[in-house]
Amino acid sequence: MTKQKVVAAVPPPLFTTTEVKKQPLHGFTYTGFDSSKKVVRDVDTNGEMKVNMLVDSMRACSPTRREFSHDQTRWMDQYPSALEVFDEIINASKGKQIVMFLDYDGTLSPIVDDPDRAYMSDEMRATVKKLAMYFPTAIVSGRCRDKVYKFVKLAELYYAGSHGMDIRGPSTGSKNKKSSPSVLCQPASEYLPMIDEVYGLLMEKTQSTEGAKVENNKFCLSVHFRCVDEKKWSELASKVRSVLKNYPKLRLTQGRKVLEIRPTIKWDKGKALEFLLESLGYANCTDVFPIYIGDDRTDEDAFKVLRERDQGFGILVSKIPRDTNASYSLQEPSEASLLFNT
Ligand SMILES: [Mg+2]
Repeated sequence: MTKQKVVAAVPPPLFTTTEVKKQPLHGFTYTGFDSSKKVVRDVDTNGEMKVNMLVDSMRACSPTRREFSHDQTRWMDQYPSALEVFDEIINASKGKQIVMFLDYDGTLSPIVDDPDRAYMSDEMRATVKKLAMYFPTAIVSGRCRDKVYKFVKLAELYYAGSHGMDIRGPSTGSKNKKSSPSVLCQPASEYLPMIDEVYGLLMEKTQSTEGAKVENNKFCLSVHFRCVDEKKWSELASKVRSVLKNYPKLRLTQGRKVLEIRPTIKWDKGKALEFLLESLGYANCTDVFPIYIGDDRTDEDAFKVLRERDQGFGILVSKIPRDTNASYSLQEPSEASLLFNT
């Protein structure tokens, strides 16, 4: 791995401000949820968590749940729209190197029923391309890196696929256009045969559940519930658990209408963010300002890292109030595009 200090181009005018203001919003803890419905993460596959809890937990972080709508105003007070506090954000970043981290599904592209058709709009692509001209920019996704690259199609970006377990640098900048971008980090390589094996078992086990889709993300697997009748969610979750019980080195987590199977290694999107900052030469810098935008529970690991580093901030894309380590919010991907173009 080559550590390389990235020197970004001169920022566009809207990212240049005259006053430094301390970020006022870190430290909030949203307490408006019914604690009995608090999302439980990193589900133990050894039977300590019952299937119904697993399904409830997945439901709680799925955007169709509207029961918290009465808390919307209070939540927005705690996690204001990044569009409304844009000036504060810019002031806080003044004199620092912004580094952009962007989730893909639900952040740059709308959530759709078929995960293979989660296309990014040309407008969003052009916006991200422009962003990357000024700031080091990374896509951090649970998807297989190759698949997310096929959606985004921008060679100048960093890509962290499989929840950050597969990181590559930009492929532009090389005089040899045929050369491949360098692999920067694959901490779960030894799990590949096991992941492939479990993928086969899950495909077989879930084929009788209408609408179920198993996606191979190389270093992790996703079982999509989006097109499955909600009455069948528990049954499907039981099938997934029954496969996983024989693989203690894999763990089960839940996201938006999805169960994900990952290696038990201590690696997540937060670790990927730290790794990329280090790779860019910003490991111990005080003048770096990382911005991470994401919509999923798995993005919380990155939001948490930013809070712990007291650097930059996280922006949660969500229409419903949700417990989060982010500092600001956006309602949907179109607002992310608006933010980039402000
Ligand atoms: Mg997402």
